[in-house]
Amino acid sequence: MGEVKRALVTGGCGFLGSHVCRRLLQDGYRVVALDNLYTGSKRNVADLFANPGFAFSEMNVIEPLVDLGSFDEIYNLACPASPPHYQARPLFTTKTSVLGALNVIELAAKCGAKVLHTSTSEVYGDPLVHPQVEKYWGNVNTIGIRSCYDEGKRCAETLYADAIREMDLDVRMVRIFNTYGPAMDPQDGRVISNFAMQALRNEDITIFGDGSQTRSFQYVDDLVEAFRRYMALPKERIRAFFAEKGLGAPVLNTGNPGEYTIRQLAEETLRQLPESKSQIVTRPLPADDPKRRKPDITLAKELLGWEPRVPLAEGLAKTIAYFRTRA
Ligand code: UDP
Repeated sequence: MGEVKRALVTGGCGFLGSHVCRRLLQDGYRVVALDNLYTGSKRNVADLFANPGFAFSEMNVIEPLVDLGSFDEIYNLACPASPPHYQARPLFTTKTSVLGALNVIELAAKCGAKVLHTSTSEVYGDPLVHPQVEKYWGNVNTIGIRSCYDEGKRCAETLYADAIREMDLDVRMVRIFNTYGPAMDPQDGRVISNFAMQALRNEDITIFGDGSQTRSFQYVDDLVEAFRRYMALPKERIRAFFAEKGLGAPVLNTGNPGEYTIRQLAEETLRQLPESKSQIVTRPLPADDPKRRKPDITLAKELLGWEPRVPLAEGLAKTIAYFRTRA
């Protein structure tokens, strides 16, 4: 038997981080979840505390991480990601992305860990290219209310790209498109959680704008599967693949290309909750709200042999079942 692998998951108590921790434990890893509990919650990993392979460290990724120990793999997911949360503390949001990336790089260099960094479809801003391909450089406002997140995440990509070039660090970056599933914070202000909670509570369903803007929704299990496949690939294979594609760093879109308008999502939510007395209402569209978003996942399909398997109706049903426990 080989030695048990050790993984660090920053943001390990968040929505995505908790799923990553659970999957790694299932895969036989020892896991340290690091979280400052700003948007993450111990509730998301409550079932993992009894597992001797799991440890929680209440810590901020903006603090130096080099003394945390030695890891084979680091999954960097620490950053508030829902617009109301990241906009509530914008300076802190940028700091988390940028200093967090630098601290992960420092730790990975020290212990020779592989890194999976989670970036975002927000690096494309309000895209002028549709669907979004990794080669697209984006259309991002530097001074808007989304900029703290978008530019922080863009700078983090720059840092990892340079860490590969300068230090030969073993890095993979994933640009995550809208993802949903159990453990999403019911209060986090995102469209899936808002609509489900509103429908469960018989409150008005708030469509921002006219609801014609689109998003593509990926179920969390599909995303975690992509992470694991990407992490399993050797550095040489990844470098050769992205060099052949003419990309300067290993950035990979992951998302579900199924594209829905926000109004369709409201209607599907109500279809799944026929007992709900909620009405659909409209509210003003927030600033810089992207009009269309849909990933091109050609590269992920080719490199990982991966594509999303969970259709929206199925994933939404599982997510609504979770929100029922929180309503
Ligand atoms: N949205 C909405 N009603 C809500 C919350 C969000 O219509 O109660 C819209 C929002 O304006 C955006 C889309 O749904 O166009 C997705 O928003 P979310 O905050 O989930 O994520 P984003 O993709 O904008 O980061």
